[in-house]
Amino acid sequence: MRLFDYARASRASEAVDLVASHGEAAFIAGGTELTNLMKDGVLAPGLVVDVNDTPLSGIELRERRLRIGAMARMRQVADRPVVRERFPVISEALLASASPQVRNRATIGGNLMQRTRCGYYRDAAGPCNRRRPGSGCPAIAGQNRAHAILGGSDHCIAVHPSDLAVALCALDAVVLTLGPDGRRSIAVEDLHLLPGTTPHRETALRHGEMITGIEVPEHPVARGSRYLKLRDRSSFEFATVSVAAALTMRERVVTDIRLAFGGVAPRPWRSAEAEDALRGRPLTDATVAEAGRALVNGARPREHNAFKVELVQRALADVLSGLGGDR
Ligand code: SF4
Repeated sequence: MRLFDYARASRASEAVDLVASHGEAAFIAGGTELTNLMKDGVLAPGLVVDVNDTPLSGIELRERRLRIGAMARMRQVADRPVVRERFPVISEALLASASPQVRNRATIGGNLMQRTRCGYYRDAAGPCNRRRPGSGCPAIAGQNRAHAILGGSDHCIAVHPSDLAVALCALDAVVLTLGPDGRRSIAVEDLHLLPGTTPHRETALRHGEMITGIEVPEHPVARGSRYLKLRDRSSFEFATVSVAAALTMRERVVTDIRLAFGGVAPRPWRSAEAEDALRGRPLTDATVAEAGRALVNGARPREHNAFKVELVQRALADVLSGLGGDR
């Protein structure tokens, strides 16, 4: 591991100033991700700015918005009654993530900033367009079972690993940031960039811009929400595919629906097409199947991940069955 300098900030503005003024600086919070990437040689910041002392760990419902500080720990958020009762998809997504030890330590802001689990990305000795621009994407002709079927490009087919981001995307959450140019709000759906020809540009954040919190609108549809994660083992494993769904119904007809998917794309994948196939219509096997087809329309599976096309449709049907009851 490369030697690095360490600084501790007590205010977000101080942390932003420190990182922005150093070309190779990085924020560190729980450290469950950055330290792994540094040990693997994937990232090598010259300065690490510790933000654990910044007062950004509140969790409260105010003015019909759930506000979660970036420094709140995953476990704290998952266990908070207001989250469990009014935004269950968030609690379920967090509890399906990582391990109890990691959830006790890792922060909400850090969770959203996780890097892809693509094995080629994490092997610093080999090529990878995301890690080293222009070096190639060995996943396209190599081991791509875990990779994207939607939203990828000929330059990168990595998937985004955060379960929380998928749940927040379904609920139209926004990320609050502080950067050298001031404060911004970014829709969670727009935080992570599709790879296109520049997969090394992973998020909409600028250098020195720090996530300070998340806001989730309180909406009736959020109460009827659920997260389903399918994975190769039951704990400490990333999604093969996942579904975040929120639903309201009246007399068996879907009045509102939000659908986002994980494990299938380089960012949380909101599917307006699948939602449109169900909104205003009865929840039946036929309409659910239509929504599934709309979701995967345009999918581009690779040699080892074609199974995801069917799996994600089955996961969607399963989660809607749970939310809609017997239909
Ligand atoms: Fe790198 Fe993306 Fe290709 Fe993985 S899929 S090797 S992250 S360029």
